[in-house]
Amino acid sequence: MPRRVTKNITGIPRIEKLPFHDAWVAFACVRCGMLNFVRIGTELLSPEEAYQTTRWKCKKCNYIHSRKSALPFKNWPEEFVKANSVHAQRFWQAFFRILTEGPESYWKQCNTCGRTLQFSAFSRHAGWGPLERQMECRSCKGVINARLNPLRTKEQLHESSIKRRIADMLLEGENEKIPFNDLFKRFNSRCFKTGKPLDIKDRKSWAIDHILPSKHLYPLTVQNAALLSKDANDNKSEKWPSEFYTNSELIKLAKITGANLSLLSRKTPIINPNINVNACVARFLKVRERSNLSKRLKELRDLLMSYDLIDKLSEKNKQILGL
Ligand SMILES: [Zn+2]
Ligand SMILES: [Zn+2]
Repeated sequence: MPRRVTKNITGIPRIEKLPFHDAWVAFACVRCGMLNFVRIGTELLSPEEAYQTTRWKCKKCNYIHSRKSALPFKNWPEEFVKANSVHAQRFWQAFFRILTEGPESYWKQCNTCGRTLQFSAFSRHAGWGPLERQMECRSCKGVINARLNPLRTKEQLHESSIKRRIADMLLEGENEKIPFNDLFKRFNSRCFKTGKPLDIKDRKSWAIDHILPSKHLYPLTVQNAALLSKDANDNKSEKWPSEFYTNSELIKLAKITGANLSLLSRKTPIINPNINVNACVARFLKVRERSNLSKRLKELRDLLMSYDLIDKLSEKNKQILGL
């Protein structure tokens, strides 16, 4: 069922019955250099198994890649290339290790363009197959995302504010109360960006920076709050922390708030991996008698799709949302 759903969402046909969880080995022929593919399936080979048991034949020149083969290098000394020589064994051990030493050594087929591509051509999808990668390659994913989230026009900017609003609604109930006194104490009553002293009583002169933005589904928590002057906060806006704070500021910030520095310092935003999508949707569905429900649901669906969160929904919630 999920296959068909995805097809409808993206408008891009998937290649039917393609075993996109299967791992492949891709190797350049030792004799002719031809790139060969071997389908391994969902049980990965260990380097030792591969070394001991496999015989991979080159499609072009028929050379057999096996520990029992002599090496085809004409200009190497004879005792190095002889089958079963120590040198040849060392070569084959490393040859098979390179191809199988971890999930990232394997290749995988994209069910959208059909190509067999290296591990890094796919984004992560926890729990999916032995390689835990998505079913489409990143290039195809780019097309899918472009369709879901096309280049920004005025309309798109409007959509981005909708996204922000929906994200805020989803987070309701996850946000913590931020006691102002404690916040000022933690930040020494100064703007964290500019160092300007701030007056807790002049509420218009300061703001709480939602360090990891709500747009990416991070709730406001004590750990995720920084004290900024109003101006600095306007500049920060919805920027990802590393786009606004310098490295040494990020380190200082993590020390003050206890936030995860590797997350703060990421170069590119990431949707909150800990967000409980189902709880958010449940809350979302309880809201507002007056609002236009069908429009809200569409906005919610669009947001979940563009954030790649559909797979995290329970079957029931998928059904409710018409997915
Ligand atoms: Zn060959
Ligand atoms: Zn592809």
